[in-house]
Amino acid sequence: MTQRKFDYDLVVIGGGSGGVRAARMAAGFGARVALVESHRLGGTCVNVGCVPKKLLVTGARYVDAFQDAKGFGWSVDATVDWNRLRTRVLSEVQRLNGIYGGILDRAQVEQVPGRGVVHGPHEVKVGERTLHAAKILIATGGRPRRPELPGAEHAAISDDFFELETLPKRAVLIGGGYIGVEFTSILTQLGVEVHLVHRHPELLNHFDADVATHFTEAFGVHPHVHLHLDRSAASIAAGSVTLNDGQTIEADFILFTAGRVPNIEGLFANGPAALGIETKARDALVVNDTYQTGCPSIFAVGDVIDRMALTPVALAEGMSFARHQFAEWSKKDARVAYDCVATAVFSTPEVATVGLSEADARKRGGVRIFLSTFRPMKFVLAERQERSLMKLVVDAESDRVLGVHVVGPDAGEIMQGFAAALNAGITKRKLDQTIGIHPTAAEELVTMREATR
Ligand code: FAD
Repeated sequence: MTQRKFDYDLVVIGGGSGGVRAARMAAGFGARVALVESHRLGGTCVNVGCVPKKLLVTGARYVDAFQDAKGFGWSVDATVDWNRLRTRVLSEVQRLNGIYGGILDRAQVEQVPGRGVVHGPHEVKVGERTLHAAKILIATGGRPRRPELPGAEHAAISDDFFELETLPKRAVLIGGGYIGVEFTSILTQLGVEVHLVHRHPELLNHFDADVATHFTEAFGVHPHVHLHLDRSAASIAAGSVTLNDGQTIEADFILFTAGRVPNIEGLFANGPAALGIETKARDALVVNDTYQTGCPSIFAVGDVIDRMALTPVALAEGMSFARHQFAEWSKKDARVAYDCVATAVFSTPEVATVGLSEADARKRGGVRIFLSTFRPMKFVLAERQERSLMKLVVDAESDRVLGVHVVGPDAGEIMQGFAAALNAGITKRKLDQTIGIHPTAAEELVTMREATR
């Protein structure tokens, strides 16, 4: 493996989820590895993504718990201190930055702070320093992009959300994808009036159609949520957004939540094409099934290849790369299974899904649909009207479960086990044979009857 004519067997550019995992594993297999990071270790997930977001979601959701507690006999008088919540979240992020540094040190990965620029098939420059490597792995992730709108500079991007020093009174969020609805939930639970602008008639429109419809109705019920569906922002000024229907909404915080793109800005000294590296839509790097670009010594994983912008996918790709290149795993054994990746939206209500939507499954052949909506037990005493939705998409011929969809409390926690079952090829009959855990919401998924439409 070791090619001594280079200083390193591997130089990784980007110390986020994919880069750190690949670097650590490659070093564990005996490779001499350096990792270049221009900002903070841990990347998007740790610093401005999954981790601070989930902690804020958890913090904001206490308001519902306090409200519901009254129905169970409690008297609760609670207020939130945003500054304390935010400071505690940011200090946890700092702790994790340190942990990532420790992981790399223990694995004997050399950390090179600074911006990496690829100058040749084996050459990365970081400031004045040039690193020569047998292989280069690009794991530079994605970045938020401002849409080209008049006045776009007046709006914040998702990274800024975590730096908000005071809570706004009224906010406009542009984009009703998963980041938009998660941030809306956090803000509205903390008492902010949020106007959410989304260009489609339903929120989460990339999800199963029943999920999107159910979610949009349930989400819009919150008194602080104001939905502007089938609308888009036409222009922005300091303190206001004008929509394409002419309506102007005043706000003290305006945020773009859509439009992340793969991050190759300034990454190649002479552009990717000069090295034979192809890019596709939105600047994503094109790679083959071993994450190799058109330049044989340069590889790429994670959001920069734009397959599925999720942390566990970036981790899996980083591991696959390291195993195949540095531990001689076969292509087949190192392969990432993209077809059963579960994902969750940590809004309120929560959404989680694995496998195919009904529409995608119907493109392949006949399906049977199992669907149920119900009021979770704890909502009855809490006097909440919100209903959960559970849906199974099953292949009519083989009886295999192709998709599982949940909207409601703990959807993400429920889904992980079903993702394992789908990966193992579970059939509806096997689900029916599974004895439920009573009383839980999840037991609904093993007792479902066919939907009549
Ligand atoms: P990143 O984690 O983005 O890391 C890339 C790193 O490269 C960064 O640290 C960057 O500073 C560095 N870099 C870039 N260019 C250079 C250069 N030239 N030189 C040196 N360093 C460079 N995913 C989930 O699975 N669950 C979630 O709940 C979730 N929530 C999210 C919430 C938000 C608001 C956002 C924005 C994303 C969320 N994601 C979530 C997505 C997840 O964060 C990404 O899919 C994941 O971080 C991608 O990992 P990566 O290694 O490809 O890139």
